[in-house]
Amino acid sequence: MYGGIDLGGTKIQAAILDDDHSVLGSARRATPTSGGPADVAVELEAALRDAAMAAEVEPAALDGVGVGSPGTIDAGNVTSARNLPGWEGTFPLASTLQQALGCEVKVGNDVQVATHAEFRLGAGRLYRSLLGVFWGTGVGGGLILDGRPWTGQGAAGEIGHIVVEIDGARCTCGRRGCMEAYAGRGAMEEHVSKLVEKGRKTELFGLMRERERTRLTSGVWARALDHGDKLAAHVLDRAVRALGAGIASAVNVLDVEGVIIGGGLGVRLGHPYAKRIAEEMLPHLFVDFRPPRVHVAALGDLGGAIGAALLLEPEEQSAISR
Ligand SMILES: [Zn+2]
Repeated sequence: MYGGIDLGGTKIQAAILDDDHSVLGSARRATPTSGGPADVAVELEAALRDAAMAAEVEPAALDGVGVGSPGTIDAGNVTSARNLPGWEGTFPLASTLQQALGCEVKVGNDVQVATHAEFRLGAGRLYRSLLGVFWGTGVGGGLILDGRPWTGQGAAGEIGHIVVEIDGARCTCGRRGCMEAYAGRGAMEEHVSKLVEKGRKTELFGLMRERERTRLTSGVWARALDHGDKLAAHVLDRAVRALGAGIASAVNVLDVEGVIIGGGLGVRLGHPYAKRIAEEMLPHLFVDFRPPRVHVAALGDLGGAIGAALLLEPEEQSAISR
C-alpha cells in the first residue's frame, strides 16, 4: 500500500492506493496561505493522515509516500516552489515528512507525476509518447517520451512559457508573450479586471462573491459560461487560441501521439474545450493530416496524488524522482 500527496497552490490532495492502484481512501485540505515550508509540511502530513484514516491504515505501515510538488526538486529537497507561502529557499521536504510519517517519502514534480499517472492508468494508457498540459492558475506541462518520463535537466515540460506572441502580454515569469500570459487563470483574471475597468460588463466577479471565493476559480468560469457571459467567453476564446498555438508548437517538435488536458480549468471545462483546443491546434500543426489525439485527463482531481504514489514503484523511481 502506498500514499500519494498532490501539493497544489490552493489545495492539498492525498490518497492511499493498494498495489493494484485502487484508491482506498482520500482526503483534501487547503494549502496554507501564510507561514513557510514547515507549515505546508504539517498540512501535508495531516492530509495524508486523514486519507490513511479513511483507508483504515497507519501511515507507518505504508510501503512509502510520494509527493508531487511545484518547484525544483533535487533528492527530496524542494527549491522556490512558486504559489506556495514563503518558499524562496530550499526545504528538505522528503526527510521532514519521512520523520513525521515513519515511512519512506519520495518527491517528484507535480505536473510530471500527474502526466505519468495519466500515462500509466488514465487517458494516455494507449500511447508511448504523451504531452500532459495542466491548465489552471498557470499552465504546466509533463512529458512521456517512448514510454519514459522526460524531465530534461530538471526543467523540461514548461509549456506555459512557450512564446505565442513576440513582445506580447507580460507573464508572471517576467518575460513577454508566454502562452500562460493568455491562458493561465491568473492572467485571465487580470485581463478581465482590465476590461471591466474599461467599462466592459461581466457576471464573473458577481458569481465569485456569490460563491464566497476570492479568485475567479474554474467553477466560477464554468458558471459564467452557463449564464452566457460574453466577456467570459471572449477571454476563454483568447486562452484557447493561445493553448492551440502553444501545444501545436510543442507537438511540431516532439510528434507525440497523445495530448492530455488536465488542471483545474481543463478538467472543469472538459471535453467540449479539449475539442476546441484540438481545433485551434490544427492551423499550427506542420503535419496537419495526422494530429495527435487530445483527451481530458481521466483521473481528474486525484491524478496528481495517484501519480505521486507511483513514485514509490521501483521501476519508475529512477526516472522521475531525482
Ligand atoms: Zn512566462
